[in-house]
Amino acid sequence: MPQVSLFSNGTIALVTALQALGIGGEVITTPFSFVATSHALLWNGLTPVFVDVEPGTLNLDPGRIEAAITPRTTAILPVHCYGHPCDVARIGDIAARHGLKVIYDAAHAFGVEDAGGSILRHGDLSVLSFHATKVFHTFEGGAIVSPDPQAKLHIDRLKNFGITDEVTVAATGINGKMAEVNAAMGLLQLKDFRAAIARRARVDGTYRRMLRGVPGIRCLEGAETVTNHAYFPILVGPGYPLDRDALYVRLKAHGIHARRYFHPLISEFPMYAHLPSAAPRNLPVASRAAREILCLPIYPSLDLASVEAIAEIVAHPERAAP
Ligand SMILES: *Cc1c(COP(=O)(O)O)cnc(C)c1O
Repeated sequence: MPQVSLFSNGTIALVTALQALGIGGEVITTPFSFVATSHALLWNGLTPVFVDVEPGTLNLDPGRIEAAITPRTTAILPVHCYGHPCDVARIGDIAARHGLKVIYDAAHAFGVEDAGGSILRHGDLSVLSFHATKVFHTFEGGAIVSPDPQAKLHIDRLKNFGITDEVTVAATGINGKMAEVNAAMGLLQLKDFRAAIARRARVDGTYRRMLRGVPGIRCLEGAETVTNHAYFPILVGPGYPLDRDALYVRLKAHGIHARRYFHPLISEFPMYAHLPSAAPRNLPVASRAAREILCLPIYPSLDLASVEAIAEIVAHPERAAP
């Protein structure tokens, strides 16, 4: 039975998850994520090894993982990007064959289910973020989902300084505890979660209907598997009259704040760029996605007339020239 340990934020939860499994050496991960994914590795003295993503989903490409495994590799840290489930079967199979741990950065994946239930059950651990920008939030917060009470006990001690009782400190823990006020916010959000997802689904459906067939605009594959509608990513590619940044600026001129998640790639930041695996020629799919990606506004209270107005600008940018 999966267990949950609440944390002060997703980044400390990631750092603690790596500690809990005793990960060392090199960890295979994706460059197409929020920078905290890789920062958690550096904070543990680990070396990230970047592997390119799949063009259809922008998740870590399982077909490229094995070529990146070395004798120092101990784990894989994939991201369910935009809430799209990774290919958990193939990743699990590779990990089993090479004796690697799998920690999913599930910061985008709260509420996502596959045929067997919550996708948070996959891998050795899954890590959530409850930051205010996420689909379910506690202002700041996070969690680790672990497989059994034993694993949860270990993680709960690590987030509380490693204390096991009043006079015993058994591990070098940290203070990662979620505060009560954040937990209270989470309880309020939970009450409304299903309804909020249903409203997001309507926003998603409206964008999809209006953007279908717009030359140069592509949605990601497998939309039906993204059951939490946390994001609405589009790729602004060849055949569109503007490049991505020009569309971003055009929307901004109309007071619409789209986000370039994830540009720049993690591998472009100065603490990563020197790594051999960070070379752009190693990451052609991610590099192109970073140039083309744009996440359109999506939140439960976004009314459908506004969604149509935003989609209209994307579909006919020339009519919206400033
Ligand atoms: C938000 C996010 C994090 C970090 O979570 P915080 O709660 O902000 O620390 C980590 N990974 C991904 C993919 C995220 O989107």
